[in-house]
Formats: sequence, structure tokens, C-alpha cells
Amino acid sequence: MPQHPPRLVSACLAGLRCRYDGRARTDPRIVELVCRGEAIPVCPEQLGGLPTPREAAAFVDEALGRLETRSGQDVTPQFERGAEEVVRLARAVGAREAILKERSPSCGSRWVYQRQPDGTEQVVPGQGVAARRLQAEGLRLLSEEEVTGGE
Ligand code: SF4
Repeated sequence: MPQHPPRLVSACLAGLRCRYDGRARTDPRIVELVCRGEAIPVCPEQLGGLPTPREAAAFVDEALGRLETRSGQDVTPQFERGAEEVVRLARAVGAREAILKERSPSCGSRWVYQRQPDGTEQVVPGQGVAARRLQAEGLRLLSEEEVTGGE
């Protein structure tokens, strides 16, 4: 049995090819946590029913509530469903911490992409849909950029 309460980690950081472009963003420190049984990889966007690969999505409103793909499809319901599933898993395993991919509209814990009226995307302060829900659930959030070592 693991000695620590399990963490959730963004699955793309753990080497799973679940990103919108069908690729991973493997971080060896996160892979190590998973291999030691101290972290569980999750991808909120896949859990919300979105395919892989998929069109990238970004927040399109000031309140960071609505998400659209580049072709204009509203994918807010899928993002919300994925966040709910991640929260259900966090509750089930008693997770107290999550290490999440920064700037993702699901997983960003401090910064996210927001599409501007001219179609460009900017990084703005805010949280992704799943990150927000996990923080409300009481989990401590870290990004991969804040993880400094294997602990
Ligand atoms: S939703 Fe999160 S886990 Fe899934 S690909 Fe995006 S950043 Fe990675």
C-alpha cells in the first residue's frame, strides 16, 4: 500500500498521449510518482467524453466559464462532465493534492488560455474547469512547473 494519500496528476504529464494533438507532455518526475503508486493519472477532457485527438479549446469569455473549440463548438458541457468525474475519483481515493498541467483549460491551476475577439489566444490568470473543482473540493493544487523534485 502507498504510504501517502494518492495524488491525482494530469495524465499527459504521466506520459499518456491524451492531449488534443494526440501527444503526451511527459515529465519524468510525474512518471516516477505514478510508478511508485503515489499518483493516479487522469485526463478530464477524455473523461468528459471528448475524443483524442480533438480540436483544441479555450475559454472565450471574460468570466472563464464558456469554452469553445477553434471552429466554434461549445464544449463547456464536456469540460464540466470531465471535471465532475475527476472530483468523483478524488473523493473515492481520498486524494489531497493534484499536480496539473499549467495553462490547460481543464488542468491549469494558475494560468489558462483565453481566446480573444481577434482569434488569438492569450495566457491569462485563472483556473481550468477541473482545477477549479478540485480546489473547491479541498485539494492542494500544484502545476508541473512548481514540482521541484521527487519529494
Ligand atoms: S485535460 Fe489535462 S490531462 Fe488531459 S491532456 Fe489536457 S492538460 Fe493533459
